[in-house]
Amino acid sequence: MVRPPLTLQTSVQYLRGAGPALAQKLRALGLSQVQDLLFHLPLRYEDRRRFTPLADLKEGGEVLVRAKVEHQEVRYSPRRNLRVAVSEQDSWLLLRFFFFNQTQAANFKPGSWVRAYGRLRQGKSGMEMIHPEYQLAATAEELTPEKTLTPIYPASTGVTQPRLRQLIRQALELASTDPVFNLALPGLDGPDTLSALRLIHQPQNDADAQQLLALAHPAQRRLIREELLAHQLSMRVLRRQVRGKPAPRIVNAAAGVAALEARLPFRYTNAQRRVAAEIARDLDSAAPMLRLVQGDVGSGKTAVAAAALVAAARAGFQGALMAPTELLAEQHAQTLQAWLAPMDITACLLKGTQKKPQRASALAAIKSGQAQIVVGTHAVFQQSAMFKRLALVVVDEQHRFGVQQRLALRDKGPAGLTPHQLVMTATPIPRTLAQTLYADLDVSVIDELPPGRKPIITVALSSERRAEVLARIGKACASGRQAYWVCTLIEESEEIEAQAAEETARTLRAELPELKIGLVHGRLKPVEKDAQMQAFKAGITQLLVATTVIEVGVDVPNASILIIDNAERLGLAQLHQLRGRVGRGATESQCVLLYQPPLSLTAQARLDVMRKTQDGFLIAQRDLELRGPGELLGRRQTGLVGLKLADPLRDAALGAPLQKLADEWLERHPGPCSALIRRWVGDVEKYGQV
Ligand code: ADP
Ligand code: MG
Repeated sequence: MVRPPLTLQTSVQYLRGAGPALAQKLRALGLSQVQDLLFHLPLRYEDRRRFTPLADLKEGGEVLVRAKVEHQEVRYSPRRNLRVAVSEQDSWLLLRFFFFNQTQAANFKPGSWVRAYGRLRQGKSGMEMIHPEYQLAATAEELTPEKTLTPIYPASTGVTQPRLRQLIRQALELASTDPVFNLALPGLDGPDTLSALRLIHQPQNDADAQQLLALAHPAQRRLIREELLAHQLSMRVLRRQVRGKPAPRIVNAAAGVAALEARLPFRYTNAQRRVAAEIARDLDSAAPMLRLVQGDVGSGKTAVAAAALVAAARAGFQGALMAPTELLAEQHAQTLQAWLAPMDITACLLKGTQKKPQRASALAAIKSGQAQIVVGTHAVFQQSAMFKRLALVVVDEQHRFGVQQRLALRDKGPAGLTPHQLVMTATPIPRTLAQTLYADLDVSVIDELPPGRKPIITVALSSERRAEVLARIGKACASGRQAYWVCTLIEESEEIEAQAAEETARTLRAELPELKIGLVHGRLKPVEKDAQMQAFKAGITQLLVATTVIEVGVDVPNASILIIDNAERLGLAQLHQLRGRVGRGATESQCVLLYQPPLSLTAQARLDVMRKTQDGFLIAQRDLELRGPGELLGRRQTGLVGLKLADPLRDAALGAPLQKLADEWLERHPGPCSALIRRWVGDVEKYGQV
């Protein structure tokens, strides 16, 4: 096989000891280029720096030993197993293997020496080590303990720990001679990248290992800052690229904002008015808008989005509103149709599950430009829609929508023009976090709720008090109010969740026979889901049993009681989002957090936060603080960006100061910029040239 010159960007298959077959298995672990190995980080460490004398072996311990092979045999009871008796002075140990081949067995020659690491257990005739990692040698002197702690990596069948260690060692060697890798990174203090990686892969002492496992080591913090900086840079680059393109200019956008208000059943709040004006200014310019609207649940983001869409339509363009779920897309379509029909603006709904002819006619209307405003799910837009004159894309409930997907929107505009983008978050996030996650966006905040909202009274009740809760629902519904009953499950499966919701609905129908009870979950056919939502909106059903599909956006102002079953299972952001389903009308609302005792301390703290405040920004802050060390390693929580080490939530404080640095780098250090983006984010091509 001809090996290309090895660099950090070469395929792992060309490393010593690798090949196409291993490369395929490595790919399954997310490792394709050599540099990926550098960031394949240990889960924990083992200590193989000292030999433990055989005389000191204790059951349960994990130890490194060195001993002489005395005897080996293959036995067939209880099943085929290889037994190797080893000794050191007068002490003995039995090494046992259940998976082995002939050669392996024959290699344990009496008189040779073995070094073995594994867990000890008490066998029938003394201490045993099952399937140790081992090495053989002719003399004791050839076998030495490790100089550093031994990293244990995420592995898989066919990719063993020793193999990973060997490959990662090669990657580290390559990195040490790679000029780009050794570029000075101005303004990033702490150990340099390579020393930090070496330390993480091969820590020398226990103190380092302890700190590393607690994610508190300066080396880790350095790498986390580096990674966050790389992401900021990539997003800035993206922003520059988009902003550098011409956009369809929406002249007189402010008039569109005012025109909508004249048709709304309410006046804008001051905050809505301010944010809509910021948006109108962006739209009325020749560079594409890139703006994020943050606003608490119920702050009226839909009206602001509608104002922007109206402005686009009145200027002769098309606008699109993308929602994360079909339920929400349908609701938005209805709201917009009701508001816009009197203005002679057509809004149409595009669904993945539409019947063929309907879908075809919707697509045709989009293509001809006859559909001025199009509402649909993210997925539908990505695949099929071809617009005639798309000038504005609004993405509702952003946290499920990534940078990459936003990037794809660039191509949907009329020839040569890039549409304006408006992104609306579902849940407020602290400012520092917003800056890290949305470094490519300008931010507007709707920091005021529409007037007349009564506070939502929130109580936490043990499930033992379910009967009281039922009585409360019965009474409220008897007086014309409506209620949600939300079923929560830990299981990810929509199927199981749907079953549980059906079961709950059955039980509740038996317990509250006088009520009409509806049911929505993710497994219903769209027409059924639609019918259920319509019935609830129209007040035909009084109690709606639902899974967390109603989490985002659903708006039924007459519903004023919300029960969250097993509330202890949900995080604060989700609880807050769910609670936002009530408190939308003029009546006082209640939220009951029904929990299964006993509560963990964190769960208790979460429910307390919910009882005490309704301020989404405050809740987001507390959410950050409450993520204990147990959750430190779960870094994919936001599911937004493919981060290797950093958690934008946990590391928000590290990320914020990097903004200035990112600006500086973009101005003055283009070389390190692309090096860093390539190292942490991937193909620079995907982001274009710096
Ligand atoms: P969210 O920001 O959570 O998306 P919505 O846009 O769904 O909030 O608005 C919540 C409710 O408040 C809706 O019923 C909407 O019609 C109503 N609303 C929005 N703005 C105002 C306002 N300025 N005055 C009164 N009600 C409003
Ligand atoms: Mg909304």
